[in-house]
Amino acid sequence: DFTPRIFSGIQPSGDLHLGNYLGALRRFVEMQDEGTYETVYCVVDLHAITVPQDPERLCRMTREVAAGFLAAGVDPERSILINQSRVPEHAQLAWVFNCVARMGWMGRMTQWKDKAGKNAEAASLGLFAYPALMAADIMIYHATHVPVGDDQKQHLELTRDIAAKFNHDHGVDFFPEVTPVIEGTATRVMSLRDGTRKMSSSDPSDASRINMLDDAETIARKLRKARTDPDALPSDAAGLAGREGARNLVNLYAALSDTTVDAVLAEHGGKGWAEFKPALADLAVGRLAPIGEEMRRLLGDPAEIDATLARGAERARAITVPILERTYDILGM
Ligand code: ADP
Repeated sequence: DFTPRIFSGIQPSGDLHLGNYLGALRRFVEMQDEGTYETVYCVVDLHAITVPQDPERLCRMTREVAAGFLAAGVDPERSILINQSRVPEHAQLAWVFNCVARMGWMGRMTQWKDKAGKNAEAASLGLFAYPALMAADIMIYHATHVPVGDDQKQHLELTRDIAAKFNHDHGVDFFPEVTPVIEGTATRVMSLRDGTRKMSSSDPSDASRINMLDDAETIARKLRKARTDPDALPSDAAGLAGREGARNLVNLYAALSDTTVDAVLAEHGGKGWAEFKPALADLAVGRLAPIGEEMRRLLGDPAEIDATLARGAERARAITVPILERTYDILGM
């Protein structure tokens, strides 16, 4: 019997954006507040270095993501909030899992194929092993649930396979079977420039996303320029068919006001974009500005963020050290 426990992480590899907030941070806080699960949240810096990172920037982004968690409402007393490299058992269990996972399993990961592209020879070994580290991130807490988007489902399957093989090979029931908590489609935020790609920090166009540290004017400008079409808003969701840009902005409005697309269209159907976009901007600013302000306040005292993460690591290790010890014990080490 395993304690219901959530693990999730965000890479410190780019600006935090509205997609991270609506698809991840906001949900993390809800799950913390619901109290059904113990919650462990992580800045995954070991994942970030699977591709080259500038050290000064990585350090800054690690604090920025930590500040994002805190400003969004993660309470470091009720949740465990850590930076991955500072809880060494993640990397130690990852090595064990590297020895459990099979090359064939790893080679079938679609994200590996996408990210390594045609030049797999030049990719880091870490990028190939990334999903085994992710499995270790989860299993070092005996986490039972992981909130994931569609793109991470395959990695979670691999986590289950690794845990099951370890258990089977050693005749133990030590690692739990993790269950995905799948996000609804409404939380998938698309690029403001191209409604068919997801909003992402890796998009070279800054205008494609709203960053959590953008000021009110920047948010309003980006939404004003967001790609739509010449037609007015339809009166129901069926009218959004084939209108990706329009659908994205209506979805955003619904997510930011905690309502449904149909409710938004019942109110705004028939309006033009010149009227709807400023209303959406007001909503986005109202939601993001207080979080951005709190992030800036926290980032004004980096030592305090580091101290919060250090306290988190201490609390985390009360869980991870015994699990690693027991793992080594099972292996005869
Ligand atoms: P990015 O693509 O910007 O690098 P990550 O892959 O690091 O973002 O994702 C961190 C978290 O934010 C994950 O839980 C992911 O599901 C969520 N997330 C990222 N982009 C979006 C988006 N456009 N819409 C909804 N959720 C997102």
